[in-house]
Amino acid sequence: MSTVAKGMRGRPGDPATAVLEPTAAPSAGALPAGQPRPSSRERDRFVGFAFAAADLLIETDTRGRILFSAGARCRLTAGDVSGLAGGSLLDLVAPSDRKYVQVLFDRIGEKTRIKPARVTFQAIDGQRFPALLGGCRLESCPGSLFLSILLASGPRGTHEAAAAATGQLLDGPGFTGVLEDRILRAREKGLEHGLMMLLVEGLQSMTEALPDGAAAEVRQGIDAYLRGISADGDSAGRLAPDRFGIVHASDIDGEEVEKHIARIIHDAGGELPGGIRSWSLDLSDDSLDAGDAARALVYTVQAFASAQDGEFTISNLEDGAMRMMSDAVERIGRLRATIEKRDFTVVYQPIVSIETGEVHHLEALTRIEGAHSPLDFITFAEDVGLIHDFDLLLTQSVLDTLRLYHREPKLPDVAINLSAKTLMSPLFLQQFQRVTEPYGDLASKLLIEVTETVVVTDIAQLNAVLQTLRGAGYRICLDDVGAGATSFQSLYGLQADYAKIDGTFVRGAAANPRDMAMLRSMVDVCRQLGLDLVGEQVEEEEQAALLARLGVPLAQGYLFGRPSRDFAYFAKDWSKAGKGGRTVWKR
Ligand code: C2E
Ligand code: CA
Ligand code: CA
Repeated sequence: MSTVAKGMRGRPGDPATAVLEPTAAPSAGALPAGQPRPSSRERDRFVGFAFAAADLLIETDTRGRILFSAGARCRLTAGDVSGLAGGSLLDLVAPSDRKYVQVLFDRIGEKTRIKPARVTFQAIDGQRFPALLGGCRLESCPGSLFLSILLASGPRGTHEAAAAATGQLLDGPGFTGVLEDRILRAREKGLEHGLMMLLVEGLQSMTEALPDGAAAEVRQGIDAYLRGISADGDSAGRLAPDRFGIVHASDIDGEEVEKHIARIIHDAGGELPGGIRSWSLDLSDDSLDAGDAARALVYTVQAFASAQDGEFTISNLEDGAMRMMSDAVERIGRLRATIEKRDFTVVYQPIVSIETGEVHHLEALTRIEGAHSPLDFITFAEDVGLIHDFDLLLTQSVLDTLRLYHREPKLPDVAINLSAKTLMSPLFLQQFQRVTEPYGDLASKLLIEVTETVVVTDIAQLNAVLQTLRGAGYRICLDDVGAGATSFQSLYGLQADYAKIDGTFVRGAAANPRDMAMLRSMVDVCRQLGLDLVGEQVEEEEQAALLARLGVPLAQGYLFGRPSRDFAYFAKDWSKAGKGGRTVWKR
């Protein structure tokens, strides 16, 4: 075997141009007897083509023993490509990915060709790095697998990187995070991808009852298999202990997947109390606009992930998912219409000084016709990724109102609610600036209430956005402090100006000593962190008095004023009407 691609000499160490060195030529015994042997010229030509796309070419037997390798000097081989023949390919793969590569081998066996999938390789010195592993089988060489390895694949998201580093599936948020991207990409490139939802009823209780070794066998086996059948090897997620989502190529068949999962469980000695059911949807179906299709699917997957036991069962998975999907499609349509037609109004509720009863600022709250509270609308917009558009529109609408009254000498400040999801969206700062710019100084009347920080996984990033906003003159209020499991983390990681204590504690404190304890300690923490405090949902005198005793200076609630459309009432200069300050309440 002669050196391939002789002309391709380049700087050593540069994988793209490095000297390509074949290692040991396959021994005669490595090729099954009786197979036609390609001429070496022909083989060189094919290897040359293959190098156009890969850093390393490896031929193995069906169990992964390396028969032949050729490639650039690279990190994987620490400069010595020739030592690979005779060893096992699996030794070059990070242990967490070995089962997965085994699955890929099986798939090459079944399908003759697999598209490049992301695999973490491990060099002789233990260093790990990502690569794309593709492969095919040739009818003329049935005992061989032909593999191509492309090192240092392109950038990937943090979710995918984290999942790949441990050889595990994506988690729920990670999966929905990549789902939208995969759907849009599949549409763009015309790939025939499908989205599969897989329900393995009773998986958790079954694995818990297995001995540790067998339980790990099941878990790793399922993880590796689902990654193995997923598009690019990184588009499978565990949505709940018994539920999975997989973006897959069109050659994956649901029944085959169900059977394979059953076999993994059976081989580990497990016995599943329930059944296995899968449901697949064609992602290239273009009856829907790509963005909305992605949104509806993300929503359906989230619903599938968070459904209570019994909501999705073996017998109703398909119906349930279809219903969920069409429901989502319809609601998205309505949501879009509400946004496009600006079919909402804004009401204003005062935040007052408990001491003087004077209005400190107002909070802008959305009202949707026909709905008692906007909460369903807001939550759905958050779930389907449309909250960003809505929040910007609301900002604009509040600024329009402020502009109407801009001549009033005592125009009040107004707090707007911005979902953390909005603040975390990559284009937010730019778009927020574009919306506020035409209003000049009026924009400094805005306070920003940050809601739903519970869902934020990257508090530091959110904080960076908040600090940019503060730098631009906006005051920040953390909303609903005390609600949700991560609010201590949010308090710790987010620098703000105000903290609004969640209404449940305020309303509960008078009667319930536990609420009282929570309220006291939150007030204490917020004060130590230098935040000004607001108590919300104050309905009774007693609650106001209690807040005053705890040293909370500001409050909001029906006691001081219900949300009202009448912005003019708050905007006008009350001193002219013979009143002193803008006082709405007397203790
Ligand atoms: P939030 O930001 O905590 O708003 C305060 C909620 O408490 C409002 O509910 C308000 O009407 C209600 N409230 C005020 N005083 C009292 C009281 O004394 N007792 C009781 N029980 N409730 C009181 P609303 O208007 O239904 O809004 C619900 C949530 O929807 C808001 O909670 C906020 O998270 C969200 N939201 C409302 N408007 C917007 C918006 O324009 N953008 C965004 N992103 N979220 C919004
Ligand atoms: Ca709020
Ligand atoms: Ca609140």
